[in-house]
Amino acid sequence: MSDSVVSMSTSAQTSADTDVSPGAGTVTDRLVQANARYADRFGEPGMDARPVLDVAVVACMDARLDLHAALGLELGDCHTIRNAGGVVTDDVIRSLTISRRALGTRSVILIHHTNCGLESITEEFRQELEHEVGQHPVRAVEAYTDAAQDVRQSMQRVRTSPFLLHTDDVRGFVFDVTTGLLREILPAS
Ligand SMILES: [Zn+2]
Repeated sequence: MSDSVVSMSTSAQTSADTDVSPGAGTVTDRLVQANARYADRFGEPGMDARPVLDVAVVACMDARLDLHAALGLELGDCHTIRNAGGVVTDDVIRSLTISRRALGTRSVILIHHTNCGLESITEEFRQELEHEVGQHPVRAVEAYTDAAQDVRQSMQRVRTSPFLLHTDDVRGFVFDVTTGLLREILPAS
């Protein structure tokens, strides 16, 4: 807390014993400084790479979604796989396959959320990108307007992947960014 107090004072009295005053430098500089403080308090957790709860969570990268707090997760509990939208892409299948086959996870939880940035993106985004860059984007944008429907599609992709056979526990949710509540989405029958 004292750091934020320092950053709010004037910069005139910058002390020589501080390499970079808080608030100065890039965002990355701030994060690296925070890591030094984190490491000071860090104790070796004595865990291996297998998640304690044998679960992998696939979620949107959205900054409002604090997965550990929202799901009551502790360090070491789960694998967390995040991308724009929390969409099950080929690369998510790759991560889930490693999670399942090499590191023993049994359950998969898929989380989309309300007011996702992807909802405002259309296929025009892809066309604009191609026009500007002069190259066809390699990957689909995977934009969607109905989060629940996309959760169903994502569940289906996990359930039907030949690399994830016997991944029987797959459940999908939409997280409400205004209430913090998860709403479960039932798979397409
Ligand atoms: Zn999102």
